[in-house]
Amino acid sequence: MRSHLPAHPIRDKSPVDAMPTAYGQAVDYERIKSAVREILLAIGEDPNREGLRETPARVARSFAELTAGNRMDPRSFLKTVFCEKYNQVVLLRSIPFHSLCEHHLLPFTGHAHVAYLPHGRVVGLSKIARLVEGFALRLQLQERLTDQIADAIMEELRPRGTICILEATHACMTIRGVRKPGSKMITSAIRGIFQKNHASRSEALALIYGTSGLQ
Ligand code: ZN
Repeated sequence: MRSHLPAHPIRDKSPVDAMPTAYGQAVDYERIKSAVREILLAIGEDPNREGLRETPARVARSFAELTAGNRMDPRSFLKTVFCEKYNQVVLLRSIPFHSLCEHHLLPFTGHAHVAYLPHGRVVGLSKIARLVEGFALRLQLQERLTDQIADAIMEELRPRGTICILEATHACMTIRGVRKPGSKMITSAIRGIFQKNHASRSEALALIYGTSGLQ
């Protein structure tokens, strides 16, 4: 039996809706809700039982939140730059992030390390964290997420180089499939001087991994 539960238009409004919607299209909450009801029926559940009654609406809100990056341009966080003569590596280490793997719609969570060698332009560190978050809140592949962060920094800040390293645990590998809890995937995107110059790359990696004696 299919059931059609009354919509809760007020509760379905997520704070995510307050974000600029110029990028991509708005979330169709009703469509997610009916799809979730279908999934519940398909796995032999009763969408009308008390514990599940609000589930489709909750899942819709949660998907809106987890894909908020579809409705923004993360590069916009890098538009405010400061002109600065600083010419040493700038590193933001262990930025926590979570994303959804596009193959299974299951989360992958971990940390990003982002370093760049400025060329007269720097940006507030919180902006780099927001950049990571903006690209992570989309259906992603870890490899692509890593590239997107590095490319955005190269194109917006035009530094001498950048390194972006992501370490993440994928639920699609730990709770299903090969079930290897604790295994981590590490991806890197290395651009500019760090690609060509071995000494610069070693210096940045030493900072990232805390082997420089500066931690
Ligand atoms: Zn997956």
